[in-house]
Amino acid sequence: MYDLIVIGGGPAGLTAAIYAIRKRLDMLLIARDLGGKTNYRLALEGVETYQVIDGREVVNKFRSEIEYLDFAHHLDSVVAVREIEGGFHVETETGKHFEARTLIVATGAAPQKLKVPGESRFMMRGLCYSAISFAPLFLERPTAVIGSGKLAHRATAELARVSNQVYLIAPEEGQLDTPLGRRIQGLSNVTILEGYRVTEIKGDTYARSVVARKGDEEREIAVDGTFIELDLLPRSQIVASLVELDEQGRIKVDARNRTSKPGIFAAGDVTNVWAEQVLIAIGEGAKASLTAYEYLLEVGS
Ligand SMILES: Cc1cc2nc3c(=O)[nH]c(=O)nc-3n(C[C@H](O)[C@H](O)[C@H](O)COP(=O)(O)OP(=O)(O)OC[C@H]3O[C@@H](n4cnc5c(N)ncnc54)[C@H](O)[C@@H]3O)c2cc1C
Repeated sequence: MYDLIVIGGGPAGLTAAIYAIRKRLDMLLIARDLGGKTNYRLALEGVETYQVIDGREVVNKFRSEIEYLDFAHHLDSVVAVREIEGGFHVETETGKHFEARTLIVATGAAPQKLKVPGESRFMMRGLCYSAISFAPLFLERPTAVIGSGKLAHRATAELARVSNQVYLIAPEEGQLDTPLGRRIQGLSNVTILEGYRVTEIKGDTYARSVVARKGDEEREIAVDGTFIELDLLPRSQIVASLVELDEQGRIKVDARNRTSKPGIFAAGDVTNVWAEQVLIAIGEGAKASLTAYEYLLEVGS
């Protein structure tokens, strides 16, 4: 039985694993990939990547260390987790079984896709999912936000601070009666297209325009950056029957990354901790690992 199994190889999981190794815990990291969402970076004409805070030095260092330690990682997908005497049992897609006294769940959250022509082709080439990471790059450039909820309204408000024109393409109508919704309706550089559905992303080497339709009316909006800001889908299903989730399906954690189930800890985008950023995931992963270590000191291992 391992002391600790970390599930997820993004910044939160990698950091948790490295901390556990430093503490000489008998640890295994199980993940579909190493790097998680840090494997995606936005490319834009005339924009240097150093302008983005993405923690890549730390993530790359931790990833190469874990890659090197064969015994410390297993590339696979966890399909089930259940409680057993003295710990937890983890089953993977390839039929492997592992046991550990503690778990750190760092499985992240998946962005929702539009599923329209051009989306895959231009992904990360002018089209992106993370306004919170890239909005400040769009100084005096026209941008579009796709989405109807709070995330889209937040992205619109942030882009409106720098962008010369922001188009909010909101498929669902009647969602703007909130403090943020009312505020963006009053901004002179924001155009709101309610009830429009995106049908295509067009471009050449980069995304250049968004095609949106409402009934018979079709509009093609030329922009330099497009953000898909639909709600994130936390990958919490594997522990949904063991720990408490919030109304959006994120794992509830306290300030020390403890879930409602003793012995299970969580970190990063899969939790209810604000905000979805690499440096935050790194910090949360470190905390979760230290808390798991404290727990093991108490229960003995
Ligand atoms: C397109 C894009 C660009 C971004 N750019 C930036 C940026 O520039 N700066 C910034 O600070 N933030 C950025 N972000 C946000 C940032 O990437 C995330 O906040 C961060 O990666 C979250 O880390 P995480 O470890 O919690 O989750 P993730 O990075 O999502 O990693 C989750 C890990 O869990 C694994 N996993 C999931 N389910 C299972 C399972 N069942 N079994 C095994 N493994 C599993 C995945 O394979 C992955 O390894 C961006 C996000 C996106 C979508």
